[in-house]
Amino acid sequence: MMALAAAQPGWCIPMMGLHPCYVTADYAPEMTLVESWLAKESFAAIGEIGLDFYHSTDFKQEQIDVFLRQMDLAIQYDLPIVIHSRSSMDDCIKLIAEHGKGRIKGIFHCFGGDERQARKIIDLGFMLGIGGVVTYKNAGLAKVLEQLPLDALVLETDSPYLTPVPFRGKRNESSYLSYVAAKIAEIKGVTIEELVQVTTNNSKKIFPL
Ligand SMILES: [Zn+2]
Repeated sequence: MMALAAAQPGWCIPMMGLHPCYVTADYAPEMTLVESWLAKESFAAIGEIGLDFYHSTDFKQEQIDVFLRQMDLAIQYDLPIVIHSRSSMDDCIKLIAEHGKGRIKGIFHCFGGDERQARKIIDLGFMLGIGGVVTYKNAGLAKVLEQLPLDALVLETDSPYLTPVPFRGKRNESSYLSYVAAKIAEIKGVTIEELVQVTTNNSKKIFPL
């Protein structure tokens, strides 16, 4: 990741963080590594951090501890956070509300929650990352987005995962973001140009680029 960022300055800007799926009882050395990188390089955000109770709940308390610790690092380094949340949306919202409200901003990446959760996230000053899932017929995300303000949305690829229709099932790549943009523009009844302008501005409010 660091080599790619060094080879593509201005295009590839890394985040740093301990992902919840990699949190075990022995997370201390991993956190030391995260902290040493934060001290010596510049990053766009702390992420992906958060809670993932879908893949495993074996280290639930450890995931919470690591999430809180990384929120503190975000405050210390004045960086936004990018949240990975699976089967844990309400827990993530609650922890941010208790621990970081008004002090941390960021993005709920690949948001897949309902309208109630979306409104709570917006109320925290966070944005919703929308990717290829919005193009999937059965996802229900389009219905949720209809109800939400454009100024709470940012586009994301999640490459190589979550490839938008019409390439669903193939390896995702960043250029397919145009399909995500077109779909959201259709849902919100705006032009693609307008959609791109608003979501780009939104991302600039989060990332110190
Ligand atoms: Zn993720």
